[in-house]
Amino acid sequence: ANFTHMTDYMGLEGLLTDEERMVRETAREFVNREVLPIIEGHAQAGTFPARLVPMMGELGFFGPTLPEKYGCAGLSQTAYGLLMYELERGDSGLRSFASVQGSLVMWPIHAYGSEAQKDHWLPLLASGAKIGCFGLTEPDFGSNPGGMLTRAERLPGGRWRLNGTKMWITNGTVADVALVWARTDEGIRGFLVEKGTKGFSAPETHGKWSLRASVTSELVLEDVEVDGETSLLPLAKGLKAPLSCLTQARYGIAWGALGAADACYQCALDYALSRVQFDKPIAATQLQQEKLAWMVTDLTKGQLLALQLGRLKEQGTCTPAQVSMAKMNNVNAALEICRRARTILGANGILDEFPVMRHMANLESVYTYEGTHDMHTLIVGEEVTGLAAYR
Ligand code: FAD
Repeated sequence: ANFTHMTDYMGLEGLLTDEERMVRETAREFVNREVLPIIEGHAQAGTFPARLVPMMGELGFFGPTLPEKYGCAGLSQTAYGLLMYELERGDSGLRSFASVQGSLVMWPIHAYGSEAQKDHWLPLLASGAKIGCFGLTEPDFGSNPGGMLTRAERLPGGRWRLNGTKMWITNGTVADVALVWARTDEGIRGFLVEKGTKGFSAPETHGKWSLRASVTSELVLEDVEVDGETSLLPLAKGLKAPLSCLTQARYGIAWGALGAADACYQCALDYALSRVQFDKPIAATQLQQEKLAWMVTDLTKGQLLALQLGRLKEQGTCTPAQVSMAKMNNVNAALEICRRARTILGANGILDEFPVMRHMANLESVYTYEGTHDMHTLIVGEEVTGLAAYR
């Protein structure tokens, strides 16, 4: 398929700044040159393309909205969204890597860390010299992380001891530092736990049919001792701290999922125009046109929702429930677009020669992680009725 342009049915282009367009171009070229040629191989092998990390760091793809004094790019929220769109046009696993590194590790260190923690970690994470992961979910607490069992207890001399298990942690095995959320006598707190700390391990989760080019792991903490001064994020107190990180990442996902959808839409359009059955291109049939028209319409609606969310975020007025609406709508639309694309490609739709089945399988994870589709539906429901149906 021809990936030279983002699908733009409603003139999104005219609503972007020069800097935002430039970020998108840089990311698109990077994905076309470095990601598309290797990603199917990595997905089939179940391996993460680690050699891309320093390149992405060099291009400023990690934590790009954070200030330049920490080695970050200081970009707008919309530029960040467009970056996620382009990365996920490559693969949801690659975008997940960038989401975790930027929104779930760098963002909380910037928002809740000490000056010393920021000075130490942010430049290392921005360049990709160090990799981070975010440990919130546990085997028995997914949608309801407030019930977490992982515990941290204060020891004499400013030290802390952590015990517990986290599950489904993106980047876990390859991470140099894990941001682990734990229950303490003062409520939920966040701790930076470095790889190699005694009692800490991060075994990889195997057997996934989705996000195969992304590392997913368990985090096991057995009497792990850390120093409060360097490890504890001083300003992160209560469940609202990890939830605020998720709001950042979900905003990127609302854009990102559409990138995967765009890849599938463009692939299906291309295919429908060239595939001839009954002596005419299948694109000339009403049924396939209905699918393509639906796909481009839902892609466009999602883009406009994401863009408005970005502008609200830039003004500082965006609410978590608005982010929920965009994550819920856009990931669902993206998944439906990929499924329709699969049908247009017929049997070819299941082959790795085309990106469609990989994106579709990836989006099943995206539909569930960072708050399931159901949970975001219930958050929007709560917002409009004033009644919480999930607790
Ligand atoms: P559950 O919470 O058990 O939900 C199961 C089903 O019940 C869902 O359909 C859900 O919508 C529904 N449900 C739950 N509660 C209600 C309710 N009150 N009302 C109605 N329906 C309800 N977590 C991290 O902390 N860090 C990561 O880096 C990370 N990466 C991930 C990567 C992958 C590939 C995947 C698959 C997951 C990842 N997660 C991560 C975990 C993810 O955030 C959780 O899977 C998600 O929050 C859902 O939790 P659960 O899987 O335990 O499902």
